[in-house]
Amino acid sequence: ATHFVIEGLKATIEGKQILKGIDIEIKGGEIHAIMGPNGTGKSTLASALMGHPKYEVTEGNVTLDGEDVLEMAVDERARAGLFLAMQYPSEIAGVTNSDFLRSAINSRRGEGNEVSLIKFIRQMEGKMKELEMNPEFAHRYLNEGFSGGEKKRNEILQMMLLDPKIVVLDEIDSGLDIDALRIVANGVNAMRSEERGFLIITHYQRLLNYVKPDFVHVMMQGRIVKSGGPELAERLEQDGYDWIKEELGIED
Ligand code: ADP
Ligand code: MG
Ligand code: MG
Repeated sequence: ATHFVIEGLKATIEGKQILKGIDIEIKGGEIHAIMGPNGTGKSTLASALMGHPKYEVTEGNVTLDGEDVLEMAVDERARAGLFLAMQYPSEIAGVTNSDFLRSAINSRRGEGNEVSLIKFIRQMEGKMKELEMNPEFAHRYLNEGFSGGEKKRNEILQMMLLDPKIVVLDEIDSGLDIDALRIVANGVNAMRSEERGFLIITHYQRLLNYVKPDFVHVMMQGRIVKSGGPELAERLEQDGYDWIKEELGIED
């Protein structure tokens, strides 16, 4: 069964300490949410997990099913079943969405186990329909000229086709109108399975009305300062973060 463990993770960017010791354990079937004010290190955590070169991990361990994730190169992490939907997906000039997807899937499946073109197209078209995406997006260059909402839906399309073990979604809900939010949430819910764990990073509680988390963690100043169930997200929506700061004696 899927088991993802983050232990004592510390990371710096340009020499500045951002993550100050993060511990999270995710089992298959579980949805964990991370909430927190802006600038507390949520995206840094996502980037460090995926191996972004700008972020230096200085301490801690990350394992997926016992394998050392921090030892893996970026593409090896994807192959091992880690998936990250970024807060700001990048454009790739000259690569169509469908070419990008097919090569990502084949890299995940491994040599000798590539998906046939026909099967790939059938799967992609089916998922695009579920996500109410215009079929022409398959042939557009990756993220080039996509609106915010289209980029987010496209990230969910990638997740669906890649069939990852651990899904990290960084503010997948930001910039979505209510219809797009529902479509994205349906996509995530359709992917819930005992074999898959989710780490959903979000600034607002809104998405969590549609995707029910099992655990909610609050991140402040590079640390998880409080964990609880879905009720914690509701309290944050109502009362903001100040009460936690007071409770813990954190200064801005
Ligand atoms: P969050 O996602 O919680 O809003 P981030 O992880 O994006 O927070 O940022 C955490 C801190 O790291 C902030 O103080 C931010 O200014 C800093 N930071 C993030 N990215 C960079 C970067 N590329 N260069 C320098 N500082 C950065
Ligand atoms: Mg931010
Ligand atoms: Mg962020």
